Amino acid sequence: MEQEQKAAYIKTQFKEILGLTTDDSQIEKLIKFYDMTVEKNKVMNLTAITEFEEFVMKHYVDSLSIIKVMDLNGKPYSLIDIGTGAGFPGIPLKIMFPELDITLFDSLQKRLVYLDEVIHELGLKKIVTLHGRAEEFGRKLDYREKYDIVVSRAVAELTTLCELTLPFCKVGGRFIAYKGGKGDEELKSAEFAIKELGGKKGKTCEYDFIASGVSNERTLIEICKATHTISKYPRGGGKPFKTPLYIVSR
Ligand code: SAM
Repeated sequence: MEQEQKAAYIKTQFKEILGLTTDDSQIEKLIKFYDMTVEKNKVMNLTAITEFEEFVMKHYVDSLSIIKVMDLNGKPYSLIDIGTGAGFPGIPLKIMFPELDITLFDSLQKRLVYLDEVIHELGLKKIVTLHGRAEEFGRKLDYREKYDIVVSRAVAELTTLCELTLPFCKVGGRFIAYKGGKGDEELKSAEFAIKELGGKKGKTCEYDFIASGVSNERTLIEICKATHTISKYPRGGGKPFKTPLYIVSR
């Protein structure tokens, strides 16, 4: 596909599905990030999706769909992307909403080294990478309850995920979980965990899009941080994964 066709494809999908307009510099960065990811993917496991149109839908449109539950335009929020992997949703959010102050967090250092290259090549500002495990960093004073927005996609089931993410969120801030079609079931199971961790259910938004002729269902779940997370959370020793809080509550 030629550059111009790629640009036109991004512009159309962003406008139709998200109501977002893009300028030339944003389009250039989005195409460059795609090119870099596909190239690096030859030597490092970054993504199973390498076909351009599918990449735009499943990585870009999906990452940016947060705007269905929250206005980010011109907002200088601090945002941490827990388990960013190959940079989703963090990098597309930075490209489209440059005022955000973004931390890309992951436990796998080599992906973060690659993301540092991306940040440099694309000339992105106010964005850093941070290496560690969420269960550990969520206890550290420098990171605990320091972010306006916490986002996470494809990292863990919602109950576990709330324990990994809500400790990072300021009181008055929000955690947005990017989920598939069964988001409402996960939300029901996570009710105890959300309350226990100081959260309160916010908006949810279900939507779908077609990629490679197949319909993809998505749910965005907003959890508002209502009160401080009590100091025993997040638990160490792999507990958020081994004994998620819905088991503990029984
Ligand atoms: N968010 C990206 C996406 O949607 O494409 C990546 C998803 S990938 C399936 C999950 C990522 O979460 C991996 O990069 C992994 O290293 C990271 N991860 C898993 N558990 C983590 C933890 N406890 N703390 C920090 N990162 C974690």
